[in-house]
Amino acid sequence: MTAISQIALITGASRGIGASIARRLARDGFAIAINYASNAAEADALVAELVQAGASAIAIQADVSKAEQVQAMFATVEEKLGKIDVLVNNAGILKTAPLAQTSDDLYALNFAINTQGVFNTLREAATRLNEGGRIINLSSTTLALNLPGYAIYNGTKAAVEAFTRVFARELRGRRITVNAVAPGPVATDLFLNGKTEEQIQTFAKMPPLERLGQPDDIAAVVAFLAGKDGAWVNGQVLRANGGVA
Ligand code: NAP
Repeated sequence: MTAISQIALITGASRGIGASIARRLARDGFAIAINYASNAAEADALVAELVQAGASAIAIQADVSKAEQVQAMFATVEEKLGKIDVLVNNAGILKTAPLAQTSDDLYALNFAINTQGVFNTLREAATRLNEGGRIINLSSTTLALNLPGYAIYNGTKAAVEAFTRVFARELRGRRITVNAVAPGPVATDLFLNGKTEEQIQTFAKMPPLERLGQPDDIAAVVAFLAGKDGAWVNGQVLRANGGVA
């Protein structure tokens, strides 16, 4: 008898770190639900790639900042793949600006996607995740670096770390772990867009390992927390950044 796959929902998995997490968890035997906001072509191409490699995968459009879309996304995954075992809250945006020059709209957008988006999925996961499941939230090492321009972004991720620690305790009795992974700079659109080559090199030289993180570096840490070996880690924030902070 073949074992039934566990099911992983990864938000913001059409590209960047989320796409690497999807590939890695598919390789580890999970059936994969790939959430995206607007990039249907990339999400569909990733589904085709994973299915070609023998995995089960579906793509689901949903804006994580909208509670009703998140509820519908959970329902679709349950209907097409089954009850979720692993939730990876990866969807996020980075729009840096000095606090004094941040408009109300920019402030609201950052918190809507990075913080309320996580709140929306956690609230669903509380009752809809399988017993023994795993939740992994993406925070950021920028919280430890305190770089000018990052006040709002860091605020959104500080809230995510707070949710992580408290929610791990609120899920007592469900055997579900809740952890966060806080990457340093990783070579994705989110980090690279809008930076000069010189700025990119400055970031790359910051960690003692003297390079930018790659999406696969982060996917490996998420896979550890989602897998058998990560079972005893709960309520923690794990920085994966080559030693930058
Ligand atoms: P990315 O390459 O810009 O990809 C972002 C992903 O999020 C895309 O799949 C995008 O979907 C999706 N997304 C954006 N808004 C969404 C929404 N409202 N609802 C659903 N999905 C949405 O970003 P990344 O670098 O991989 O970052 C992934 C996570 O890691 C983020 O939480 C980020 O804060 C965190 N992080 C990144 C770095 C870094 O240096 N890259 C460092 C620390 C932490 P579409 O393709 O449809 O737009």
